[in-house]
Amino acid sequence: PAHGADGMLAGLDPEQREVALAVRGPVCVLAGAGTGKTRAITHRIAYGVHSGVYKPQQVLAVTFTARAAGEMRTRLRQLGVGGVQARTFHAAALRQLGYFFPRVIGGRPPELLEHKARMVADAASRLRLTVDRAAVRDLAAEIEWSKVSLLTPESYVKAARTAGRGEPGGFGVESVSRLIQVYEEAKTDRGVIDFEDVLLLMAGLIESYPHVANEVRGQYRHFVVDEYQDVSALQQRLLSQWLGDRKELCVVGDPSQTIYSFTGASPEHLMTFQHTYPDATVVRLVRDYRSTPQIVALANRLLARRVKTSGPAPLELRSQREAGPAPRLSSHDDDAAEAAAVVKQVSALLEDGVRMREIAVLFRTNSQSEQMEQALADAGLAYVLRGGERFWARKEVREAVMLIRGSARGGLGDGTLGESVRDVLSHCGWTPAAPTGVQAGGVRERWESLQALVALADDMQAARSDATLSDLVTELDERASAQHAPAVEGVTLASLHAAKGLEWDAVFLIGVSEGLMPISFAENWDAVEEERRLFYVGITRAREHLHLSWARSRNPGGRASRNPSRFLDGLFPEAGADTVSRRAQKVREPQEARAAAAHRPPPALCKICGRSLTGAVERKVGRCSSCPTGYDEQTLQSLRDWRAAAAEVTRVPAY
Ligand code: ATP
Ligand code: MG
Repeated sequence: PAHGADGMLAGLDPEQREVALAVRGPVCVLAGAGTGKTRAITHRIAYGVHSGVYKPQQVLAVTFTARAAGEMRTRLRQLGVGGVQARTFHAAALRQLGYFFPRVIGGRPPELLEHKARMVADAASRLRLTVDRAAVRDLAAEIEWSKVSLLTPESYVKAARTAGRGEPGGFGVESVSRLIQVYEEAKTDRGVIDFEDVLLLMAGLIESYPHVANEVRGQYRHFVVDEYQDVSALQQRLLSQWLGDRKELCVVGDPSQTIYSFTGASPEHLMTFQHTYPDATVVRLVRDYRSTPQIVALANRLLARRVKTSGPAPLELRSQREAGPAPRLSSHDDDAAEAAAVVKQVSALLEDGVRMREIAVLFRTNSQSEQMEQALADAGLAYVLRGGERFWARKEVREAVMLIRGSARGGLGDGTLGESVRDVLSHCGWTPAAPTGVQAGGVRERWESLQALVALADDMQAARSDATLSDLVTELDERASAQHAPAVEGVTLASLHAAKGLEWDAVFLIGVSEGLMPISFAENWDAVEEERRLFYVGITRAREHLHLSWARSRNPGGRASRNPSRFLDGLFPEAGADTVSRRAQKVREPQEARAAAAHRPPPALCKICGRSLTGAVERKVGRCSSCPTGYDEQTLQSLRDWRAAAAEVTRVPAY
């Protein structure tokens, strides 16, 4: 190949190089956002393959999203490595189940349950529980939590109480436990399985059938897990089954980016890695290559204000980039005005030459995207909803893939891959230039999809000049099965959860207000801390431009009912930005009071959420009034002790 094994080490700093060189496990990389964790493990795989330690087909890399998996495969291909399996836990398990189920159990694996909410609602009505949509959603989430935590309906009751799950959907844990039971029975009756069952079944097959274990372990010998801080007990169980008693495992993660613990993921596996594998190579990275110093400073400030008891302190990130534009904060009367302001700034960035696909608008809840979609559409700006699941279902895409497949089989296309694809797609109505004028609109969307396939082919050719149509077919199949859409030119709209691991030149984080960020149902300090980490994930997606915004009310002319997010407290110490946030808060602070405040010692912090305390009463009790009173001092103390003990056991100093 064009690059030797040593070529795989180019473009890595000394610590990243250490990761790449540690081709044998166990390896653990602990580092903050943008420090090149994903880059380091990708190069590690490439180095392992080029130096002959790994056979590509024997490597299984697990990532959090289909897109991340796709990006890793693309990057590996650029490094001259093909054939490595990079998938989500779910996709990997589904594929294995498709292979083993017919051989071991017989017949096709059960169909995936399509309408989980309906099944949950049915189960609830069988138990005569009255539920609305929100309750169904909560109950479905609770079922998921119990399953990924490996609980049975019986063990669920105690565990849910210990974990402080409250009353999911407004029901007591006993009712929920019965609901889980009925839901499971209904699923079995209908012969369908849910998402969690896929992993449970596959782990079960390996556990119960030694020949399955042998075959799986013979196939996969080297494991890499990205975003390991958000692994669930269920995923960990499958991973352990894949491994058997081998140690060929490399995990990377950032405890400060744990954002799925409410759904059952836990950073514990990451934090106890060294305890599990005392001989592990542990590498920490602190240089941030992604974001400007200003963005990094903001992220550091946000984490510095987290609850001090929630695990070991994060390492401060150090930006390696030159200074860029100052991060900005703005407030608006309502959601529509906020969306309009974002669109205006997006247009300005486009005029400055920033590419559309380098811009993202991130939000906490999917319902926030509608307003943004409308505003972008009104301005004639293309956008892509993250996920891209619908891409492969589009008629023109299916037709195009069929044609490409046929041409590859027929051995057509003597030119380069890019030329061949253009030739094939011209039969589907693709033209070199985007449609304009009156014929645009519907036509345009179709063209964009086909253009995305052309761009994908160009990317492949740029990575390997001799790439062929059948290589493209393989890639298309791989992507379609992983629901990984190619990049379509447009502004990305994504939830903060879906944005994990990704990056853009410009990020607009909208809805930074109480009730959305943190979300209203984050009722205890654990949940609020998770929201803080989610906010941290959002901020650290930006390379250059970061713009935070919030709106005082939902509807035009509505009552200003929202307040700025508590996470903004102290985030913009520079006078200018702070003025914005203060004006936004409509805090009527007399001049003198403000002057006096400047001389007061810094306010004490809430022992629960870490927010600065304002009133005398709050300071006296050491807790802000909005924090839940559910915990008495004794419980709080035992929580602190537990966390301190956990940090001690894991022996991960000063992370
Ligand atoms: P996250 O926690 O958000 O997943 P990460 O630690 O996985 O982040 P990467 O996505 O691997 O970080 O890298 C962040 C950015 O920094 C990428 O654009 C990557 O190409 C770049 N980068 C990483 N390491 C280096 C390096 N040594 N030199 C130059 N650029 C680098
Ligand atoms: Mg990453």
